[in-house]
Amino acid sequence: MKNGNIDVHCHLFNGKFAFEELLEIGWRWIHGEYPYADGQMRRTTRGIRLPLPPFIKKMITYTANLFETVTRDPAGNYKYETECYRKSGFGRSEPLISVPLMMDIYFIFDDGAGHARRSGIGAMSAARKKASLGQLHIDEKGHSEFDAFAEEMKGLVLQAVSERASSGRRAATATDAKRKKSVEKELDAIIGECKAPRKAPSRVRGGARGGDVQMTRGYRHHIEALREIKQAAPDSVFPFLAVDPRRIGIDSLVDEHVLRGDFHGVKLYCPLGYLPSHPDLNPVFRTCIDNGIPVTAHTSPGGFPSQCGQIRSFRRKKDGVVVPVFFDKDDFVKQRKPEKGESAQSLFFADPGNWLDVLESAGYGRLKVNFAHFGGEDYIGAFADGKAKPGNWTAAIVELMERFENVYADVAYCPGSKMPEYIGKIAARHPVVAERLMFGTDYVMIMINGCGLTNYFNEYTGLTSAMLRDNAVKFLARP
Ligand SMILES: [Zn+2]
Repeated sequence: MKNGNIDVHCHLFNGKFAFEELLEIGWRWIHGEYPYADGQMRRTTRGIRLPLPPFIKKMITYTANLFETVTRDPAGNYKYETECYRKSGFGRSEPLISVPLMMDIYFIFDDGAGHARRSGIGAMSAARKKASLGQLHIDEKGHSEFDAFAEEMKGLVLQAVSERASSGRRAATATDAKRKKSVEKELDAIIGECKAPRKAPSRVRGGARGGDVQMTRGYRHHIEALREIKQAAPDSVFPFLAVDPRRIGIDSLVDEHVLRGDFHGVKLYCPLGYLPSHPDLNPVFRTCIDNGIPVTAHTSPGGFPSQCGQIRSFRRKKDGVVVPVFFDKDDFVKQRKPEKGESAQSLFFADPGNWLDVLESAGYGRLKVNFAHFGGEDYIGAFADGKAKPGNWTAAIVELMERFENVYADVAYCPGSKMPEYIGKIAARHPVVAERLMFGTDYVMIMINGCGLTNYFNEYTGLTSAMLRDNAVKFLARP
């Protein structure tokens, strides 16, 4: 690793990634094959064209936002990040080390009912292996049906792009029209790629542990893009693989890409509908502990949550016993009403307290975990000012830091100018924070909210060198 400050939390994906996943989700949905295609599900829905779920709108907005604000490809995003850093108060003194985190949004509409019905506890993996795998590919027979579907998706994304551009203004400008045209061209190109004949026959690759792995188009392309960026800048870029326990063969993917490949760590995004104690994450954590692989987990009540009001899942308790978990949004909000910018799904699944099941399991206390966002700006502010209410996530994370030797946090996406002051106050009361808190930007996500990246860097030039670099060096170290 080069000398230099470390952005331990950024993203380099773009609208293409989101649109490819949107097509994959939507196409499988209308064929009753989401999130898996297997004999049982197809029998029950054969011939019935399922309408798209109303909540797919959220995915369309997300895709449009990315197309509007992230106009570069992943390599271009990386170049832009380093340029902003150079222009910022950090200047030319030291290079920037980037840790781009992947995202896996494929399961955003999965309510888990399929897993529970098909498998039951314990038989989960075996039953899921029967699912037919391989990413979306449309053979010629399916072209006209796919064309109609893809045109509909394209139209909805373009409409959302226009709405976003014109919000707050009376009339669309010439630049808006030009931008819309270029987004349309990009969408057409992606749709064309889905229909292009395959170069080689599709092959489902078995992982090192045997068994199948499930790939989706956007997910696979983003792995490839990050690998190329890593190979071009091996000492400056340390990508993390997105891990969702519902993706079939996820432990094989971790073996292939993190243990032996170009990826450096594991990224979890629990608000999408699973707990860190999900039993299928257990073998992944074992690999991480045995090999010093770092794990970063989204830990703020905001973000991009599951769109399901009810989610069935599983939880592995610290004694190893696996029990079902049922999340019901209506029941949840009766006890805890989400505030502005929060979601019930995030409050339930991303709560740092959920990690006790993992960290208190015998032999798991050494797991390296970065609680990304440090609980989020509101919890940080309240805790710093001594106004934390019971259940404050920043307080919970600090407590975990004090108990477990490898618990870290990052300040990504906390752009307020009071942040350095808050951090100073917290570190004065809890010295462990000075040794475990790390700098992060959450670029490209901060672009969507219009906070410039150069400004973001400037907010944090006063952080200690421990937070700008040394703590992340310890977190990232792989023996
Ligand atoms: Zn992020």
